[in-house]
Amino acid sequence: MGEASVEEMVEQEDIMALQSRYQSLDAKRRVALDKLLDIKGSIRVFSRIRPFKSAENWRNSLPISVETDKIKVKSLGSKKEFIVDHGFDQNSTQEDVYKEVQPIIKSAFDGHNVCVLAYGQTGTGKTYTMEGVRGNPGIVLRAMEELFREITQEKCEKYTLTMSMLEVYMGSLKDLLALKQHPLRMDPATKSISIMARTSGTVEIEGLTDAEIMNFKQATSLYNKGRRARVTSSTNVNETSSRSHCLTRIIVRDGEKGKVVSKIWLVDLGGSERLLKTGALGQTLDEGKSINLSLSALGDVIAALKQKKHHVPYRNSKLTQLLSDSLGEGSRVVMIVHTSPSEDDLLETICTLTFAKRVRSIESNRELSEETKKIRQKRIAELDHITKEAEKELQILKVQIGKAESSIREKNQAQFADGSPRSPLVLEHVEFAEISQHAEKIMKKLGPKVKPHFMAPTVSSKQRQSATGESIQKLRNSKFGHKKNLNFSGSHSLSVTGPFISNLKSKSVDQGARRGSHSTNGPTVRNILPQHRRRTSIC
Ligand code: ADP
Ligand code: MG
Repeated sequence: MGEASVEEMVEQEDIMALQSRYQSLDAKRRVALDKLLDIKGSIRVFSRIRPFKSAENWRNSLPISVETDKIKVKSLGSKKEFIVDHGFDQNSTQEDVYKEVQPIIKSAFDGHNVCVLAYGQTGTGKTYTMEGVRGNPGIVLRAMEELFREITQEKCEKYTLTMSMLEVYMGSLKDLLALKQHPLRMDPATKSISIMARTSGTVEIEGLTDAEIMNFKQATSLYNKGRRARVTSSTNVNETSSRSHCLTRIIVRDGEKGKVVSKIWLVDLGGSERLLKTGALGQTLDEGKSINLSLSALGDVIAALKQKKHHVPYRNSKLTQLLSDSLGEGSRVVMIVHTSPSEDDLLETICTLTFAKRVRSIESNRELSEETKKIRQKRIAELDHITKEAEKELQILKVQIGKAESSIREKNQAQFADGSPRSPLVLEHVEFAEISQHAEKIMKKLGPKVKPHFMAPTVSSKQRQSATGESIQKLRNSKFGHKKNLNFSGSHSLSVTGPFISNLKSKSVDQGARRGSHSTNGPTVRNILPQHRRRTSIC
């Protein structure tokens, strides 16, 4: 074997070693992330307080104060405390919130269904947190960006993403992407969407548009279309208040097998305010009632899951039916409860935080001793460190693998340009010629009598054989084709093409293999080809 070929094999082995390191490190990262999320809890409650608006009665002393995991509310001379998994104060940024949600979004690639829900009174910032504003996107767009980044940089291209958007309005479902895509055929009455619960526990939504998204830009424009299609009606709490739930679903599929890896639900819930306060009448009152019913059904479901109850009342609302395979076991759920800083909204704030307390359940509301809290925090910090370090090293490994692969590619190209005898084409045909000669020798040894009938050359195969022979002779005589210098390596690629090459390939390899005229050579050549095509990838 020639010197260059040995060098190349060493490079191939290096790549394989890097890939194996990548895979074991990725497994380690996944275990650490799983443990981390398990310790933190598979259903978590965050709270976010919106900053004062200019029109509100601004006070120096706020009735509500936020600590890392505690919300304190002063009301009628008494103080109430609510424990949450993470509290975001008025100065919290979209980045701060997303940073806490990010590991959960990433866990979708490890097969966990994810559900992020924004809960709260109208006007407290649910849409701000989920959608964001121009130049300062919320969780949905940040999550999509993250998913595409993961696919292109971290994981591999085998994953595909699809997106759906629907609205639950007064107990009925509306496909927000279908309405926008076909404005002339917009007919929600005839377009029926039904929720099918499979015995396996998975949920399918029949009739819902599930659009493939190829990149972040396309995902953003589709999301914006869906957003604009949302039904809104105004109450006197907030002029653009939404009296419907808006759900964005992203499905991660394994592109090779088309299998669903996970579902991510990002939900901007309808306002949770009490109907008395809104002063709503007629249609708007009905909308409010419907919202309140579905929110209380959601609270019941999450509380039952947290308490590990045998029966979980998913069927009590369309919202919980839709989310039923993404709230339970194996799923990662975050509910972000939103509150207003204003004294005027104090009663609503207390209602919201009471809801949060309920969904956090008895188990997690139990006051942990200071000692246990410290141990827990230490373990979380350790696992967080392991996950982050593994992520950093995975990035480096990915770059190293990419560099090693392109170095091999460049060498191959340079050798071909130099007229090196290691050109993939020459190798392929010399291999073919060697096989031909070898087969001829065997045939001679066996004698004409033992040659099976199907191996006897036909007229056309004789013509092809002589054409091939001439081609091989030309090759041998050409500046590329000195047989004594040739080395074969299975790692060569078939990337080099050209008229001369394709002509030869089609004459000597493809025809022989496909039509079976060179029955001795055909299968052998086919066996070699997959080796030539070998691709290094971390998938
Ligand atoms: P909701 O969806 O709960 O009804 P919105 O998201 O529409 O509430 O928020 C109401 C208003 O408050 C919007 O003008 C929004 O931009 C603003 N707002 C909400 N939260 C924040 C925040 N954290 N920082 C800055 N502005 C906010
Ligand atoms: Mg809103």
